[in-house]
Amino acid sequence: MILNAQMLLRSFTRRAVFIDRDGVICRNRDDYVKSWEEFVFLPGALEALAQLARTDLYIVIVTNQSPINRGIVSAETVEEINSRMVLAIEAAGGRVDRVMYCPHRPDEHCACRKPQAGMLLLAAKDFGLDLSHSYLIGDAETDMQAGRAVGCRRYLVLTGRGWRQLMHSLTCGKLDFVVKWNLKAATNVIVRQESGVEWAHSQFAFG
Ligand SMILES: [Mg+2]
Ligand SMILES: [Zn+2]
Repeated sequence: MILNAQMLLRSFTRRAVFIDRDGVICRNRDDYVKSWEEFVFLPGALEALAQLARTDLYIVIVTNQSPINRGIVSAETVEEINSRMVLAIEAAGGRVDRVMYCPHRPDEHCACRKPQAGMLLLAAKDFGLDLSHSYLIGDAETDMQAGRAVGCRRYLVLTGRGWRQLMHSLTCGKLDFVVKWNLKAATNVIVRQESGVEWAHSQFAFG
C-alpha cells in the first residue's frame, strides 16, 4: 500500500475553504452591494462552487460588511442578500455550510473584520477545523492577511480588487500566496489537490 503521509493526514482532518464574497463570488461595487438587485455573480463562480461542493471541504463564506455599521444597509438586508445567494448557489448544484459576516467599521477595531482572523477562528471552533490544512480565496490583501494569521493556504484572485491588490503586494506587501484569475481557476487547483485525499480514501477501502 503506497500512501503519502500528507494525504493521510488530510484525509483525517476537517478542513474548509473560506471564500470572500464581494469581488470573488459577486461583482464588487465601490458603493457596496446594498440589495439583491445589485448582487451579480461573477462568471464561473456558480460553477466553481458546485465543483467545491463535491469535495469534503466545509464551504464557509467570510465577508466584511461595514456598510451595516456605517448605516448604509441594514443587517437584515445583508442577511437577505446572503440567503438569496445561498439559494442560487444551491440551485446551481453548490453548497454553503455557513455565511459569516462582520458588520463593524474599521474604527471599531473588532476581532472579526478581516485582516483579523476572528471569523476563521470561530468557524474553526464550531466545525473543529484544522486551519493549517484549510484554504482561503479572496481578492484583497486583508483576506490574505487573515488567512496568513491562521496558516491557511491562500489564493488571491484577480477579479474584484485583485489586480490593484496584487500591484500593491508587489511593491510593498508580502507575496506568499498563489495568484489565480478567478474563483474557478483557484477552485481547479484546490480540487486537484483534494483528489489526492479521495485517492487516499480508496486506498484504505481496498488496501
Ligand atoms: Mg472582496
Ligand atoms: Zn467585526
